[in-house]
Amino acid sequence: MGYLPDELIGNNGFDFIHPDDLEHLSSQFKRLKNEFHLKSDPYRFKNRDGDWRWIQSTATNLIKDDLISGVIINSVDITELIQTQEQLQISNDRYKYLNKATNDAVYEWDIIHDRFDWGDAFQRVFGYNLNDQPFRLVDWISLMHPSDEKKNRDDWHRFFQNKDENKWQKQFRFKRSDGKYLFVEEIGYMVRNSSGKPIRMIGLLRDISESKLNTIQQDIKENFSDIFTKEISLTSTLDQVLKYISEFGDYKTGELWLVSEKKQEIYLKNFFIQGETPGQFYNVEPEGTRFKYGEALPGIVWQRRKLTQWDEKDSNIAFMKATATHNDNLKSAIGIPLIHNGMVIGVLILYSAEFAVESWIESITLNSIAPFIGAEIVRKQQEEEMRLLFESSPDILSLASPDGYFTKVNPAFSELLGYSEEELTSVPFHEFLHPDDLKRTDKEYRDTITGERKANNFINRYRTKSGSYKWIAWVTSDLINEDGHVFAFGRDVTEVIELQKLVDNATQLARVGAWEVDVKTKKVYFSQMTREIHELDDNYTPDVESGINFYRKDARPIIRERLEQAMVDGTPWDLELPIITAKGNERWIRVIGKAEMIQGKCVKLFGSLQDIHERKKIEQDLQSVNEILQKYTRELEISNTELEQFAYVASHDLQEPLRMITSFMDLLKSRYGDQLDEKAHEYILFATDGAKRMRQIILDLLQFSKVGKSEHDKEPVNMIEVVKLVCQLQQKQIKEKGALIMYDNLPVIDTYRAPLIQIFQNLISNAIKYSKPDQRPSIRIHAKELKQVWQFSVEDNGIGIDDNYFEKIFVIFQRLHQKDEYSGTGIGLTVVKKIVENLGGRIWVESVLEKGSVFHFTIPK
Ligand code: ADP
Repeated sequence: MGYLPDELIGNNGFDFIHPDDLEHLSSQFKRLKNEFHLKSDPYRFKNRDGDWRWIQSTATNLIKDDLISGVIINSVDITELIQTQEQLQISNDRYKYLNKATNDAVYEWDIIHDRFDWGDAFQRVFGYNLNDQPFRLVDWISLMHPSDEKKNRDDWHRFFQNKDENKWQKQFRFKRSDGKYLFVEEIGYMVRNSSGKPIRMIGLLRDISESKLNTIQQDIKENFSDIFTKEISLTSTLDQVLKYISEFGDYKTGELWLVSEKKQEIYLKNFFIQGETPGQFYNVEPEGTRFKYGEALPGIVWQRRKLTQWDEKDSNIAFMKATATHNDNLKSAIGIPLIHNGMVIGVLILYSAEFAVESWIESITLNSIAPFIGAEIVRKQQEEEMRLLFESSPDILSLASPDGYFTKVNPAFSELLGYSEEELTSVPFHEFLHPDDLKRTDKEYRDTITGERKANNFINRYRTKSGSYKWIAWVTSDLINEDGHVFAFGRDVTEVIELQKLVDNATQLARVGAWEVDVKTKKVYFSQMTREIHELDDNYTPDVESGINFYRKDARPIIRERLEQAMVDGTPWDLELPIITAKGNERWIRVIGKAEMIQGKCVKLFGSLQDIHERKKIEQDLQSVNEILQKYTRELEISNTELEQFAYVASHDLQEPLRMITSFMDLLKSRYGDQLDEKAHEYILFATDGAKRMRQIILDLLQFSKVGKSEHDKEPVNMIEVVKLVCQLQQKQIKEKGALIMYDNLPVIDTYRAPLIQIFQNLISNAIKYSKPDQRPSIRIHAKELKQVWQFSVEDNGIGIDDNYFEKIFVIFQRLHQKDEYSGTGIGLTVVKKIVENLGGRIWVESVLEKGSVFHFTIPK
């Protein structure tokens, strides 16, 4: 107090005491009469400087102590303490008022005793009344959203252990007394003792649901529009959406179900499983999983059109888990209908590993984004359909700009021309055009791009990368935007046009025209060629009646009847008739007609008309030639038969008198031989000889007439055997003349046996007969294979033939010798020639007089 002892001793102690405290203090001291020990309340004491100090005194009554006989007072200056207490009171008051005013739920956690002391806001915001029971850490944990608690657990432990950390700040969901979760932010301060052990924690929980909701929704929207505006397929878009939602709400599995086109089923379109590769839990292809309206989770949400939650105890979820996933940890599911234009287009199902909890944030969020997802799915689907349409169209689809560029082309276009999309869009399209089409196209394009009219099957040629040209028929749309773009649809008509050209050429060459009669309007159409055939000029308009009148008078009733018949029952016709052209020329035409019937009524007659005049003329000429030929053939047949008959008669009837001559001559000789003189005998001999030769002639003639009447078929004929047989037949002559017959390798040929024997018989017998008297006949037979024929030769060393007679000897009855020199009838070679020619071959001779002859003949293979 700053006093020296002298300044105090002898003074009344109460003089130093604050007047306000005096009364209370003296009353306290009065109690000393009865009590031995007493502790005063704090009171003010003036120090030497005149300032009031707070003092607290302990008085011990030692009056009865002989040694002391007084009261001992020990005083402590507690000014600092009192001042602190005062300040504390102020701040306590402030805290109290703050607590009443704020919505931050302030807490103080006595860690040693695990007790929370909550500010008023705790009850106000979260609805808990904690008057009776103590609030402990376990209570806190039970109120945290399980998945958030799990998420924060490690962080908390780290913070708790770390001596150097005091500040704690986290956001999580915290359950309100009505069971709903709020988003809160916790800001806390940890008080640790000198060794860093936490002893107290002071902090607050602030409800940030509103702003959190806004940020979440904002964030979702931003992310979604990011996902949806990317140029990816619907499937990968949905994959990303599911992934995002699942991660945002900590869902283990997310499924997206779409209502089928016919609105009869709902099928699994996509799914997402946190931390797993898709497909691992799904034993079926997503789109193979389908349910009906009202069936299973997606079907129920579809029907209810409301966000729906299930818990493990619901049989539905058990069922779903069995069919869709094998994840046993799933405990709850939430289903959100995706509604677009008032229709449920799909359902989002989210599975959680936690039991179902009611979180209004989630509900609001999911409900608010559902229409967004719905709309985006529809848009994406449409976009995808459009893209598919564009890309898979077999026809050309393109977007053309007013400055003459293609700004977009589909794959069909690239494929047709062989240029990439880039190449087609980087230069004006006239670069690809055929030079002859530039002007036309330019005009057409100006008309369409100004919106004046639309192109309708405008055809031009585009150059392909390989340099060839393709004909494309174009149709354009209306102008589609302010920039004046148009859609240009093209079709490759190259084949059609080339075919058309071919047809044109063919009709030109075949002189075929077309015609058509529209039964209703009676209009008649003649193609260019039809007009040409009729020799019509271009201005002539045909009609049915004049059409009929072009036919020659005698043909008109025929064509009229056919026309009428076809109109009645559709009977087609194909006729060859003459017409008289406009210029008065007669021409033959082939006219084909058909009827087009609709419901039993003829609506159109059409057909072709071909100029067949030349053919008809040739046919007619041929016809008359044929007739002449037929006449000759008939005459020939008659004369042949007559000849045959003659030969027959000759052989039989003429032989009879001959035999008579011979036998009477024999009779004459035997009966009257001795009466006749030598001269008479000679006459008889002449007569007999004559008759004999006559008989031979008759036999030879008969043989000749029979040539060519083979009754046998072709067969393989071994020529060696033929020659051997002939030698056998000629044995007598061969022996007589000592003839030598030689032959080399003779072939086996496919031919008729009998005629070949005849040929060789004649040739060999001639070769023996016409030998030189002083020389042995030597005959060589050989064969040569030529390209198309076999050539046989019979060579002798006989008397030979003068080359003047090379032809003559083959003529009937032509002989070069007298009968007494060399006997014969002059028919043999004629027969041979006839046989050879009948077989399709040829015969000729080579010979040198006195040296010998070679007879050659051929037989076709
Ligand atoms: P012919 O019955 O007279 O033999 P051919 O028609 O067989 O009748 O012969 C016609 C004529 O050709 C013969 O009369 C003969 O003068 C002549 N001739 C045929 N073959 C030979 C031959 N190998 N050598 C010489 N002359 C021949």
